[in-house]
Amino acid sequence: MIAIIGGGISGLSAAWHLAQTGKPFTLFEKQPRWGGVIETAYWEDCVLEAGPDSFLAAKPEAFELIRELGLQAELIASNDHQRVTFVWKNGRMRPLPDGLVMMAPTRILPVALSPLLSWRTKVRMGLELFSARPGPKSERSVADFVREHYGQETVDYLAEPLLSGVYGGDVESLSVNAVLPRFVELEAKYGSLTRGVLQSRKSQPAGPSPSKALFATLKGGLGQLVEALHSRLVACGKLVCGEVEALERSAQGWRLRLTGDWMEADSVVLAVPAYQAAKLLAPHDARLASLLNSIEYSSSITMALVYRNLPRRPTGFGFLVPRKERRHLMAGTWVQNKFPHRAPGGYAILRCFIGGAGSEALLSQSDEAILRAALSDVQLLTGISRAPDHHRISRWSRSMAQYTLGHQARVREIEERIKPLGRLFLAGNAYSGIGIPDCIRTGRLAAEKALALSPHRP
Ligand SMILES: Cc1cc2nc3c(=O)[nH]c(=O)nc-3n(C[C@H](O)[C@H](O)[C@H](O)COP(=O)(O)OP(=O)(O)OC[C@H]3O[C@@H](n4cnc5c(N)ncnc54)[C@H](O)[C@@H]3O)c2cc1C
Repeated sequence: MIAIIGGGISGLSAAWHLAQTGKPFTLFEKQPRWGGVIETAYWEDCVLEAGPDSFLAAKPEAFELIRELGLQAELIASNDHQRVTFVWKNGRMRPLPDGLVMMAPTRILPVALSPLLSWRTKVRMGLELFSARPGPKSERSVADFVREHYGQETVDYLAEPLLSGVYGGDVESLSVNAVLPRFVELEAKYGSLTRGVLQSRKSQPAGPSPSKALFATLKGGLGQLVEALHSRLVACGKLVCGEVEALERSAQGWRLRLTGDWMEADSVVLAVPAYQAAKLLAPHDARLASLLNSIEYSSSITMALVYRNLPRRPTGFGFLVPRKERRHLMAGTWVQNKFPHRAPGGYAILRCFIGGAGSEALLSQSDEAILRAALSDVQLLTGISRAPDHHRISRWSRSMAQYTLGHQARVREIEERIKPLGRLFLAGNAYSGIGIPDCIRTGRLAAEKALALSPHRP
């Protein structure tokens, strides 16, 4: 039997891979709910995503899984024709200029006319095109990398708010080599990041998304993916709700303790946050546990605010609030604009994101206090002063891995140290990608390795 610990999307994907091969497995999840940070709720036909709301359409793994589960008819793409995102700057919303690839400009006119950036930054962006100097070989933070290419204002009003929505972390400590490795490659090849992005776009093959949209998801929310996985898995394996408290070596491979009882496994896939893996592995390799513990996690709060019949229909996908502007909210998404099928006519859903230091301070406070802080920002940022008809708050403590400086070296050492433990494999968002497609890939890969090394038993 292969034991998979952690019933988030990484562990579920590992189990799904084993289920397809017919190999016996047991999946353990400590919460009474499957899916980890994926959680969809419903209110008056509105789809409210508590955790992730979509996945990047450029990566194939989520599409493959959805196809394998027969959910293709449920796939929807983001309404990219409405893709205007605003950035809050000096008391006003300003649209992100068209043609940006993250913070790299690829079109002159929209950037030249943008009220978001000063002329000094625009001139600097223009001159960057002629840079021929390859970047230093050493690892840098995202902030240092962007500053070198486009200056501080681009860090504050593009890189920081764009990446905060993904990592909820600090661009001064995130490693550009781990978070944006493609940009580092382009810099090494072309010197100018803008030139690199322009060249790479010319040679890019078409992505797996039939609609070429930036994001994809399921009509009824990503909870549909979890439900489909769960209902297929109960039919072919064992799903156990309970916390794995300890791991011990045994003649067969591994022995797991669950509420005092021990059970045997040939192999183990650890699909839990790195700090949880550290707890289980500390008795076997203290250095490995310390490396796993040094992968930092940020916390966040998401909130769905549902309004019926707003007098003015909100426009665009939503807004980003740079840390420099000192608000609680870091981002807001108008769900009914970003995706079809998420809200009935006449309803507007604002999905709010509070991350980083702001969320750490609020996390332990009451729902009322969190709502009050968010609504005061919503009034300032959107002009909506009325209370929502419904709200739902979700707290995500230590849930987003931070790929800080040294991340790649840390992961290399973790991979080296895990090998001698034998038939134990890691999956999850802590190592080689934080998005849902990355987690599906790591889950599947861990299951493949476990299969390859598991003894054949009749
Ligand atoms: C608020 C938020 C928004 C996000 N938005 C997006 C998005 O829009 N698009 C995107 O692609 N990604 C997004 N992400 C990232 C992505 O959702 C996550 O990286 C991914 O879902 C993590 O999956 P996982 O299975 O690795 O971990 P988790 O979902 O954390 O699952 C790990 C599971 O292990 C269980 N566990 C831990 N210890 C034990 C134990 N000892 N025994 C048994 N079980 C245990 C936990 O209870 C948990 O259920 C978002 C993340 C968050 C938090």
